[in-house]
Amino acid sequence: MSTKPNSIEARDIAYHLHPYTNARKHQQVGPLVIESGEGVYVTDNNGKRYIEGMAGLWSVGLGFGEKRLVDAATRQMTKLPFYHTFTHKSHGPAVELAEKLVTMAPVPMSKAFFTNSGSEANDTAMKLIWYRSNALGQPERKKIISRMRAYHGVTIASASLTGLPNNHRSFDLPLQGILHTASPHHWRDAQPGESEEAFATRLAGELEALILAEGPETIAAFFGEPVMGAGGVVVPPRTYWAKIQAVLNKYDILLVADEVICGFGRTGSMFGCQTYDIKPDIMVMSKQLSSSYLPISALMANDRVLDPILDESDRIGTLGHGFTAGGHPVAAAVALETIKIIEERNLVAHAAEMGELLREGLRRLESHPLVGEVRGVGLIAAIELVVDKAAKTALEAPGALGGLFNAELQEQGIICRNMGDAVALCPPLIIQPNEVRSILDKFASALDTVSRKIFDGATEKVA
Ligand code: PMP
Repeated sequence: MSTKPNSIEARDIAYHLHPYTNARKHQQVGPLVIESGEGVYVTDNNGKRYIEGMAGLWSVGLGFGEKRLVDAATRQMTKLPFYHTFTHKSHGPAVELAEKLVTMAPVPMSKAFFTNSGSEANDTAMKLIWYRSNALGQPERKKIISRMRAYHGVTIASASLTGLPNNHRSFDLPLQGILHTASPHHWRDAQPGESEEAFATRLAGELEALILAEGPETIAAFFGEPVMGAGGVVVPPRTYWAKIQAVLNKYDILLVADEVICGFGRTGSMFGCQTYDIKPDIMVMSKQLSSSYLPISALMANDRVLDPILDESDRIGTLGHGFTAGGHPVAAAVALETIKIIEERNLVAHAAEMGELLREGLRRLESHPLVGEVRGVGLIAAIELVVDKAAKTALEAPGALGGLFNAELQEQGIICRNMGDAVALCPPLIIQPNEVRSILDKFASALDTVSRKIFDGATEKVA
């Protein structure tokens, strides 16, 4: 880090409070300042280039230099830089994007509603679900089931849906009435000898037991990411989604698929729902929707959800919900162009192909003493690091091994992210085979470097 008093690093430390950062540690270590990007690469302010192995925050599907998105934004900014959609107003980009999303939905959906972040979209989904229960004359049907290790955002409602301790601790969350059932991580949580199918049956049984204990008439909805992202890339075991959906259908519980990471090609299909044959009532999307060039998110809902809501808005006189910038015309124009490019360039099939290459390479690392599990689907993957393969344990301090490995990767020019001791990979959809190979080479050498540090007696320093 530069120590110059007026450097960007020094000013960052002085003035900038960072999300998901240890604020005191930040005063010591300072920021990594990224200055520019092109393709799958970003460059810092010292001229060092990195492969962005996480597409930013699982989000820059088209990479960092897509001129067509810039042009789409410029055109719309010039024509109509802002308009809203409150009180019967509308504009072309919002209508076109709503139509596009509803048309491309993998299951029948009837309308789209626009928000600005994944958190806002999930928050909105929850509010609409409560509104619907009241509309149906079922005011007791308000509880929501989410899962441990789920990530649905950070607003008061969506952080409550999120099933990670650091999103609840000291925030007085989760809200009452939001329940968390087990996460579907076979490698970590299956009993000895339990097959993926048997594990999935057990989890569906646990879900049903929870519903019965709470009273099925009090449960409104189940939220789930097709593949859990920020919880550590948890790929569901075989038959999981079929069994979960059978339970939800039995008790007439709505299903919300949070496609914020999975949507638009990440899992090797356009939507995660297609990869796992999920039939949601509500779909939530963001991130790759605009390749994150501008903030935008959306939810789509089917008639089963919307009919009572439309009637309730008529009874009350308005649907009293909406964000100033929801469906922002410039962001919507960028989203439309993003989807157009994904379709034109067959990036879903390309991502599936690059994902194969990536997972094949990662699987070759499975015999390394530090690798406990390699998991993934499409172009999203993780390796779980351990020091004891049989016990599936890492260093004494949770996340220390993952942090060490992640830091070594960054040193070698790969930006990844460790969630505890799982290190995730979620590169832009446009990645090319030589860039995948480059990531794999760096993973192999970083594993060796870290393993020398661990097994040559430096453990206590990092634990
Ligand atoms: N849902 C999922 C599945 C996510 O991964 C995220 C962000 N990582 C969110 C919701 C929240 O999105 P945002 O950060 O835009 O609020």
